[in-house]
Amino acid sequence: MNSRDRVLAALRLEPVDRTPVCNPTSVATVELMDLADAPFPDANRIPELMARLAETSYTELGFDTIMPVFSIIQESSALGCRIQWEQKDNWPTVKMREPIWETPDDIRIPADFLTHPDTRCVIDAIKLLRKRYGNEVAIIGKTMGPWSLGYHCFGVEPFLLLSLDDPGKTKLCLDRMKEATVQFGLAQIEAGADALTLPDHATGDLVSAEYYERYLVDVHKEFAERLPIPLILHICGRTVDRMPFIAQTGMAAFHYDSKNQPAESMEAVNGRVALVGNINNPETLFSKGAAEVRAEVYKNLNARVNLVGPECAIPLQTAIENLKEIPKAVRDWHRERAA
Ligand SMILES: [Zn+2]
Repeated sequence: MNSRDRVLAALRLEPVDRTPVCNPTSVATVELMDLADAPFPDANRIPELMARLAETSYTELGFDTIMPVFSIIQESSALGCRIQWEQKDNWPTVKMREPIWETPDDIRIPADFLTHPDTRCVIDAIKLLRKRYGNEVAIIGKTMGPWSLGYHCFGVEPFLLLSLDDPGKTKLCLDRMKEATVQFGLAQIEAGADALTLPDHATGDLVSAEYYERYLVDVHKEFAERLPIPLILHICGRTVDRMPFIAQTGMAAFHYDSKNQPAESMEAVNGRVALVGNINNPETLFSKGAAEVRAEVYKNLNARVNLVGPECAIPLQTAIENLKEIPKAVRDWHRERAA
């Protein structure tokens, strides 16, 4: 199996020759920016630089995937949010103190949503990568879910308050914003993406499992129907309480956080959705060494987690030696088991 076959088989819950190493979110680091001569912020705005930085996950780190969407703001920029682009050592962010919408009636997807430079950049980077790598490595795109877009366009607090006060209006907002998720997703599929990460930050500490069921299960089911390639749902934090709901959505995989143990998570999803991720970022990958990285990889493999990788976008100052340890540890675990 080549990298692409391996990733796509694991996302379909089919047998693989070895567990794929997958980054559904960014593994860009300052070190990799120097190697590829593709620094932030330009690597978030210029397709060739975006592609060049993204491909290092395959060429330098030895992962089975390339994921060029390092930030979570590309489509929010195209929707009209003001962006703080930052410098090489920081991710761009939405200026959330300047929300663009207040009510469901304010929601408009601009006519140039898919031709705006910041959505265009992602679409063109995927095209470049597909052309460069053919079918040898899985290319993963990213389209943000409506709960995350709600934070960006309404502000986190106003959007959470709305969800407490007015379920009807909240659902109307999600319904209107979800069209942006679908449009951007379809454009990336057409450009050549093999799978899409779909972050929708109904995060453990901000939103309950009951909220996930009330507001998002049906929307996520709809994405799985309307976006015809494997989807990888990403939600940070402790989420084991909502994994049984996530397992009903038709998403191919759930990108899960180290606040959840591999074994309990596998039990919660019960073979209905693949799991990917779990290697801790702030402590293990960022501040510990190869031995600790290896221990976490083994814990996932021992629990038969389907794909292994960092839990979320990694800190930009992470040492690449720690990232390279992930595929090394996966190979060693399989070798030891075969012996
Ligand atoms: Zn995350």
